[in-house]
Amino acid sequence: MSVARLSDRVRRELTYLSFPPREWTVPHYRDGDRVLDVLIVGGGQGGLATAFGLKRERITNFRIVDRNPRGFEGPWRRFARMNGLRTSNDVTGIDLGIPSLTARAWYEARFGRQAWERIGRIPRKEWREYLDWYRDVLELPVENETEVTSIEPAGDLLLAHLRRNGRIERVHARKIVLATGVEGSGRWRAPKELVADLPAELYAHSADDIDFGRLAGKRIGVLGIGASALDNAAAALEADAARVDLCFRRADIPRINLLAWMNFAGMLGHFGDLSDLERWRYMRRIVEEVPLPPPQEAFWRCRKFENFAWHANCAWHSICVQGDVATVETEAGSFTFDFIIFATGFETDLSARPELSLIVHHIALWGDRFTPPPSEENDVLARHPYLGPAFEFMERQPGTAPFVGRLHNFTLGSLPSLGITGAAVTGMKYGVPRLVNGLVRDLFREDAAAHYQDFLTYAVPELETLESGFAWIDRLATDALSSVHKLINDELVFKASKRSRGKRTVTPSRTKRRSPKSVKRRRDAN
Ligand SMILES: Cc1cc2nc3c(=O)[nH]c(=O)nc-3n(C[C@H](O)[C@H](O)[C@H](O)COP(=O)(O)OP(=O)(O)OC[C@H]3O[C@@H](n4cnc5c(N)ncnc54)[C@H](O)[C@@H]3O)c2cc1C
Repeated sequence: MSVARLSDRVRRELTYLSFPPREWTVPHYRDGDRVLDVLIVGGGQGGLATAFGLKRERITNFRIVDRNPRGFEGPWRRFARMNGLRTSNDVTGIDLGIPSLTARAWYEARFGRQAWERIGRIPRKEWREYLDWYRDVLELPVENETEVTSIEPAGDLLLAHLRRNGRIERVHARKIVLATGVEGSGRWRAPKELVADLPAELYAHSADDIDFGRLAGKRIGVLGIGASALDNAAAALEADAARVDLCFRRADIPRINLLAWMNFAGMLGHFGDLSDLERWRYMRRIVEEVPLPPPQEAFWRCRKFENFAWHANCAWHSICVQGDVATVETEAGSFTFDFIIFATGFETDLSARPELSLIVHHIALWGDRFTPPPSEENDVLARHPYLGPAFEFMERQPGTAPFVGRLHNFTLGSLPSLGITGAAVTGMKYGVPRLVNGLVRDLFREDAAAHYQDFLTYAVPELETLESGFAWIDRLATDALSSVHKLINDELVFKASKRSRGKRTVTPSRTKRRSPKSVKRRRDAN
């Protein structure tokens, strides 16, 4: 099967699943403009799946924006440097349960069934290609190169500032979903004390754009031992770096991926239903084990190079620059590098997010809501947002900023509150429905009174007539014929008057010329 035929199949299958078809959210207006039901920030896999989830729930009054150009959403074509995903290839999720929308269905359509049998992990580039297809086949209207610069309360709504081509657009929304990725609750981080005096041309973070061609023949230092450290070391080695030294402070390379243990339905679906203490204990162990180990392939990718070395117990103390060269003093002696890559991950810190700067002080963190037992404290965990069951922010001081509940944080910052759900492929299967159900719940409940009024005035007849079936059809046909005759008649009169006036000035509305009966019937049929 080709990808084109698969696309047809997806569209067909979606028609089988179209119940209930009615769009139902109640229009709200502010300053004469329709208020968005949902604004999704981020067009990566999380934002796309959320948009699809909303469409399936017949919410179409949403926008989805991403600051990157089309195809460059997320890390996949930018700074993800592994060959294959770190996740096993049986992972599903953003398909929302539709088999033809899975990565496997797409891969088999594109490369054949046997090709799928041969791969252990989905190749990174193909994962991105799959996301491009997903976006297109589902007609998800991502607005690229559009950045949300700030979010603030506006009465009972949220007001987002969108920047595109240097122009700012102000958009009111009832709900905003932050699907802004792994770093969406903080920022990528290189140790401040080490980079403070380091010239920009001598280093990069592993999440930066790096021109690896420039590293040929150079001595490269990589700090870190997570998957990205190995991926970047491999990219440098494959670009003919003279030598790559990978340094880390631990005594050994981590081997166990604790997050992998969490991949079962109970945990993925219901971590958020555990008590605060239970959640804290799981996540404290995860946070203390970070970084998670590099996959075997990433290690072998480096290991095959003679000019690759790794150094345990090698914390870096200081860096001294002379000319174009950086000398690093470490626990294991000194090293001289021509270029350094900090594969030191990210830190969770909501105040680092420009789009939240106006409201961050209203958002509850774990440190505000939960006091761990003595000796179980953890500062990193305490900085994470304390989220409600649908990823919504909670108020730091209850009753002072209810608008924060309109903002849903579908980023890795949700880890202690809801487990692996936001910003990980493995979490999508349970995370997206949880998020979408919460959005639907809130939008519906907020308009409960309006829905009830609509219910009270509902008057669409299921039983249309008490005439016999023949009489009814006969009358319908007569009405239809008389409508056609009237149309023809009107058209003739119109042409005649046009001829007599020489030129046509106003186009008469066809709706006006339709017979009142046929209009009524059409309305009833709807
Ligand atoms: C290098 C790397 C490798 C990974 N590999 C795996 C893996 O193998 N398996 C796995 O399960 N997970 C993996 N992950 C984790 C996760 O699956 C990815 O990070 C994934 O991209 C998360 O999807 P997302 O949609 O949540 O965020 P992203 O894909 O990061 O998308 C977020 C989007 O938000 C946009 N954005 C951010 N702020 C704004 C703003 N203010 N205005 C407008 N747009 C904004 C960004 O431009 C970005 O495109 C990896 C992560 C990284 C960083």
